[in-house]
Amino acid sequence: MRSRPGRRAARAAEAAAAAGLAVAASLGSAAPAAAPPSRHGETVGHTVRGRPIRLVVVGDRGAARRVLVVGCIHGTERAGIAVTRALRGAAAPAGAALLLVDALNADGCAAGTRGNAHGVDLNRNFPVGWRPLSGIYASGPRPGSEPETSAARRLVLRERPDVTIWLHQHMDRVLLDPGADRALIRTYARVAGMRTRVLAPLPGTATRWEAEVLPGRSAFVVELPAGRLPAAAVARQVRAVLAVAALSGTSQGALSRLRHPHAP
Ligand SMILES: [Zn+2]
Repeated sequence: MRSRPGRRAARAAEAAAAAGLAVAASLGSAAPAAAPPSRHGETVGHTVRGRPIRLVVVGDRGAARRVLVVGCIHGTERAGIAVTRALRGAAAPAGAALLLVDALNADGCAAGTRGNAHGVDLNRNFPVGWRPLSGIYASGPRPGSEPETSAARRLVLRERPDVTIWLHQHMDRVLLDPGADRALIRTYARVAGMRTRVLAPLPGTATRWEAEVLPGRSAFVVELPAGRLPAAAVARQVRAVLAVAALSGTSQGALSRLRHPHAP
């Protein structure tokens, strides 16, 4: 349940996000309406096969609020890459930076395999709730064994994102991951035009690990629909990310931190 001020904050966040999109859309014109979004790229790790794992930051590198979006962790679920790529052209809401990783599992995305080049499901390889698993959910020889998992852990611990969004397919639901701010997730779902769903906790997932190492912050999964996303659907996901980015440092975020007094 969300308070009235919370709802107002959500509306304001959506309006700010829409304004950001309008600015992004106007950048192609000659009008000097706004400075182009500042972008900064770096390599944050390498895959088993040596492919660089690239991070692109949109907005102020030193912004107080950071929203991390990972386009592809399962190589058979690549629709989210269109979303992270589109976000590069968006304007981050004031005071927020977007941290964009197209493909954490760059080898799997290139090969079209769920797992990485070792056949490990990276979303079962994180060291919270890890269990030995084989088959398509193979969790690796030990928790955090894979270089892609290490890269993600280093990045998350360095940036301490207020919100992390992991894009998957094909459930067509936004997942209410334990530990994440449900109001934020519901805002994302509403702007994206999606429904929410609760899943039983899975072993060794990225969101479960983040909930433990960054309590009071929000990491959640967006299960996109199957297939390639049409342009209008990409735009809706972009608006949803920007709405959450605008919201994460407002009263909603502050309230959420109050609800988690153990937060660092
Ligand atoms: Zn997945």
